[in-house]
Amino acid sequence: HAKSAGKGRYHFFDSQLESRVRTRQRRLDELRVALRDDQLLLHYQPQVDTATGRAVGVEALARWQHPVDGLLPPAAFIPLAEEAGLMPAVDAWVIRRACREAADWATQGVALTLALNVSAQSVTPALVATTIEALRESGLPPRLLEFELTETALLHAEDTGVVDVLQQLAALGVRLSIDDFGTGYGSLLYLRSLPIAAIKIDRRFVQAAPGTAQDAAIVKSLLDLGRTLELRVVAEGVETAEQLALLRELGCETAQGYFFSPPVPGAEAVRHGRVEGESAAGLLPDAAAAD
Ligand code: C2E
Ligand code: MG
Ligand code: MG
Ligand code: MG
Repeated sequence: HAKSAGKGRYHFFDSQLESRVRTRQRRLDELRVALRDDQLLLHYQPQVDTATGRAVGVEALARWQHPVDGLLPPAAFIPLAEEAGLMPAVDAWVIRRACREAADWATQGVALTLALNVSAQSVTPALVATTIEALRESGLPPRLLEFELTETALLHAEDTGVVDVLQQLAALGVRLSIDDFGTGYGSLLYLRSLPIAAIKIDRRFVQAAPGTAQDAAIVKSLLDLGRTLELRVVAEGVETAEQLALLRELGCETAQGYFFSPPVPGAEAVRHGRVEGESAAGLLPDAAAAD
């Protein structure tokens, strides 16, 4: 009896596994169609100056408007795309779309930096080509563009050509930042050799900081590190006034999180960032000359 029950159980797991494999395969096929048919879209989360409360930039975050299942978060498709090696295609789509949208805002007088997430898989010479093309197509000034990489993307940076790619991006004027800083690869060696402009303190540190002196000390030391190495430091995942107060006390200049705004459609995000015509003038030299 035990044997047949066991067998039945295996059948059960087999068919469960089978249907999961089928579901993933279907999602993957759908994702290829989504890329082709522009079913992806971008929401933008403001990055805020902690002193003035004004937005200084936005981070673009991908969503998938699925024809049947509705609006899907990155967790529903990015791991899958990563597994299938599709992230370069996703990131290329995001870069082109985001540059176009941000260039539009700039012509409307909105001066915001545009941060984009770039998967480890995407850091190849094709990324440089895509970036050059997206900047040229859109007219967005490179200095408004920032690529967020995770520490994992830098894991084998020395011997994989990643260094060359990052140096070429930096040479274009694109800034590089380290996302989820302090949660990934346990080496800081890359900070000595790579053109990194900013680090983003992972929300787990930010959210724990008001709790205990030790947690606050971690955030403080990351801010000290940033100051010493002349890196901009952005605190992620700020949800409460208490977290913000502590960050200001510790001298953190830029923060991002639900306390200010969740990621929202572009039109809504840029309302936070509209600036006076004068300070926006010259943002887009070509557009300004055409006026
Ligand atoms: P990330 O780049 O670290 O982005 C921050 C994530 O935290 C976003 O989740 C954002 O909605 C969420 N978040 C922001 N503020 C708060 C807060 O106050 N509290 C909490 N609990 N969460 C907050 P989202 O949009 O679901 O994106 C998740 C991850 O997916 C991103 O993490 C990024 O690693 C990846 N991702 C999103 N879009 C893209 C993309 O276009 N390309 C690549 N390569 N990765 C992307
Ligand atoms: Mg990010
Ligand atoms: Mg992050
Ligand atoms: Mg992340």
